Amino acid sequence: MSGSALYETFARAPLAFERGEGSWLITETGERYLDFAGGIAVNSLGHGHPHLVAALTEQAAKLWHVSNLYQIPGQSRLGERLTETSFADRVFFTNSGAEALECAIKTARRCQYVNGHPERFRVITFEGAFHGRTLATIAAGGQAKYLEGFGPKVEGFDQVAFDDIDAAEKLIGPETAAILLEPVQGEGGIRPFPTQSLKRLRELCDKHGLLLIFDEVQCGVGRTGKLYGYEWSGVSPDLMAIAKGIGGGFPVGACLATEAAAKGMTAGVHGTTFGGNPLAMAVGNAVLDVLLEEGFLEEVSRKALLMKQGLASIADEFPDVIAEIRGTGLMLGVKCTMPNTKVNMALRDQKLLAVPAGENVLRLLPPLTITDAEIREALARIRAGAASLSKAAANGG
Ligand SMILES: *Cc1c(COP(=O)(O)O)cnc(C)c1O
Repeated sequence: MSGSALYETFARAPLAFERGEGSWLITETGERYLDFAGGIAVNSLGHGHPHLVAALTEQAAKLWHVSNLYQIPGQSRLGERLTETSFADRVFFTNSGAEALECAIKTARRCQYVNGHPERFRVITFEGAFHGRTLATIAAGGQAKYLEGFGPKVEGFDQVAFDDIDAAEKLIGPETAAILLEPVQGEGGIRPFPTQSLKRLRELCDKHGLLLIFDEVQCGVGRTGKLYGYEWSGVSPDLMAIAKGIGGGFPVGACLATEAAAKGMTAGVHGTTFGGNPLAMAVGNAVLDVLLEEGFLEEVSRKALLMKQGLASIADEFPDVIAEIRGTGLMLGVKCTMPNTKVNMALRDQKLLAVPAGENVLRLLPPLTITDAEIREALARIRAGAASLSKAAANGG
């Protein structure tokens, strides 16, 4: 059987795609699927975007990899652009989201250490979080299903209920170093933290000398209609992890930091072989070229509204299938009345791909470049899927 040499860690759908064109994925037999899974919020500019293809192939003809022993001009440039367009002053490039989080956690602990507080290493996180699959990030995420059987949980992560800021405040102790959260939980079910909560967390961090870390691996890089999700609240972190969307499908991540937060990260303290290599930087810069074009993010918000209004009317029509629509920008969640896996299958039958999340939510993460016509097509397919489920349910199926 094909794939039998692989770990069985993924429950893969019986679908293999040969190529992609914008918002579409195409199988070997020529079947076309509307891609609202987006490689789990990764393909921010869809498939085969000409500017990304050109950037990657041009760089591929010149130089692939040199390591961080040498200057990498593309890395300096992307670093400068990321700092110019965010709260940050410093950037460390990685290959994945989990590595960006590892860097953020290490940076926070190291900052406390060089500021005379080596005892401060604990990080407060929130239920429903997802921060990756390394040993430290499964401890940060705190989900039992990801921790089981992997030995003692990495020390130093304390969790409170989602958005329970009072509980977070009570948990702050002499060993606390930082508070870590996703401004909009992704895998947790497209759950945004209220602006008021983010403001209170910022105040708590300032009062107690803690670092505020945002995980924007999923909600960052244009997904919510702003370059970063935190911009909606006006609350800036000290550290932030990004990945997924910044590479548009090429593996890139980054940890962004203020000058003060990055203070302890001096020569030799942290490192990476692949992180920030010329190929990754060429693509990251190309993604930013498009996102920073005049009016691009406003268009994301306009299209998101179209999408959300259409979804809301489908939810009204089929309350036995869809309970609620949530999310900001093109990071949308369909809270299902019936099991989300069932709704996911019905949409796949309509040749539309989505991703299940926690809280019985189905994530819709289309490319930020989706057209109005494709949105109308997607809504027609989602409506057809909901109608077939509703009809089957009414017939006792
Ligand atoms: C996907 C994700 C990660 C982990 O990223 P990987 O690239 O899979 O390591 C971390 N945090 C959030 C919010 C994510 O969505």
